[in-house]
Amino acid sequence: MIQSPLLEHRTGYVAGAFLPPHAGPRFVVHDPATGEPLAELPSYGAADTDAAIAAAATVLAAPPASLETRAGWLRAIAAAQLAHQDELARIITLENGKPLAEARGEVAYAAGFYQVAADSIDALAPRTLAQRPRGLTWTVYARPAGVAGLITPWNFPLAMLAKKLAGALAAGAPAVIKPAELTPLAPLALVHLIDRLDLPPGMVNLVFGDAPAIGAALCAHPAVRVISFTGSTRVGQLLASQAAPHVKRLALELGGNAPLIVFDDADVAVAVEQLMASKFRCAGQTCVSANRIYVQAGIAEAFTHAIAARVRALKVGHGLEPGTQVGPLIDRGAAAKVDRLVGDAVARGARVVVGEPAQPDTGFRAPTVLADVQPGMALLTEEVFGPVVPLVTFATEAEVVAAANATEYGLAAYVFTADPARGARVAAALRFGHVALNNASGPTPEAPFGGMKSSGYGREGGVEGLLEFVELQTVPSA
Ligand code: ADP
Repeated sequence: MIQSPLLEHRTGYVAGAFLPPHAGPRFVVHDPATGEPLAELPSYGAADTDAAIAAAATVLAAPPASLETRAGWLRAIAAAQLAHQDELARIITLENGKPLAEARGEVAYAAGFYQVAADSIDALAPRTLAQRPRGLTWTVYARPAGVAGLITPWNFPLAMLAKKLAGALAAGAPAVIKPAELTPLAPLALVHLIDRLDLPPGMVNLVFGDAPAIGAALCAHPAVRVISFTGSTRVGQLLASQAAPHVKRLALELGGNAPLIVFDDADVAVAVEQLMASKFRCAGQTCVSANRIYVQAGIAEAFTHAIAARVRALKVGHGLEPGTQVGPLIDRGAAAKVDRLVGDAVARGARVVVGEPAQPDTGFRAPTVLADVQPGMALLTEEVFGPVVPLVTFATEAEVVAAANATEYGLAAYVFTADPARGARVAAALRFGHVALNNASGPTPEAPFGGMKSSGYGREGGVEGLLEFVELQTVPSA
């Protein structure tokens, strides 16, 4: 079991207080590397969620806090996260499995969203139109949209929450947070830090447990006006259909299936370096992980050798062990999916360049490189969400653009070429919300990030991430 000064209370948080223990159902959080239990938490359902929404709604009954006050909350949360970076990172590593250095990076990255939201908050100030249509003064106000339901995944327990909570708090929209049941402890620790700050009771609430019941309650309650969700396309579709009768706004960040394209003229060393960082972060379990690696025929052999050497040298282990570069997958289901996709590819003729047979009784999977991957293999249509590099050889620009776009997803893509004109042309032709040129950077707090097609809609980060949580109101006055 985990001991932590940031996990003194092991319950939800509603109206500015941790809930009393209850006698209802409970669930257990595990260390994915060892299978050992870390904590047992109460499982909340519809009634508790309604209570959390009601607490959040009381905040909206009072006039909204000033932008300056909200910026102060955001800066205080960023500072608190950074002041407890080591402990928050340890909790993330224990419940998620990622190496400690990555978890520390996640805490700093998450703090950046609060900081940037504070820095950008003037974008929400009332704006008076320069023109005076009909002889009136027109002012546009960014009002808090209402209660915000924030449903987050397990791969970045604090960063995915930061992307949503920073926007909601900047907008003055009180939040009901529903973290993933696989990784609720870092969010719970963050709420311990928020509890010490000077936010109005009800501004931040936390429930977890029965995800379908909590999701349905958030969708049905009239006070909830925005639901921001990051997770699977299946659950995103379900939430959209549940919210449709109430005409609620959704921001959905769903699956990816990121192509990484390397043209013959690219700097192979740079492309390999960047691919390693994109692919093996969180053991490949991120929605922006390079999932389909397209390499032009002229450099395919050199690229395969270079990436194989790097992947062979990766150190797999418990995230708290010094030197670990790749931790376990989140659970046995995730490992079984990797086995299925690799098995399908090998059965259809893919060649294992690096990789070992799966260890069925653990959540760990060996970093793997597959060559001769062909269209039609499941590995190219489904997100592998694991430490697997599938290499596909291509001949022409037109062919690779068509192949890269031949997916229902459209989140992130990466292009490596020495020709800036080609880079610009290919970026414009790719139907992805984020296209990185000669680097494989994922999102940053300063920029809007989100998907096209089945990867969802809405943006997180940047000024756009704040606008998701406001309603614009126009006041023409005589
Ligand atoms: P993943 O496959 O990455 O685990 P999910 O979409 O299942 O993605 O999970 C993302 C988040 O959605 C988690 O917090 C999870 O608990 C939550 N979730 C799962 N099912 C539902 C549901 N029916 N309604 C609302 N939230 C859900």
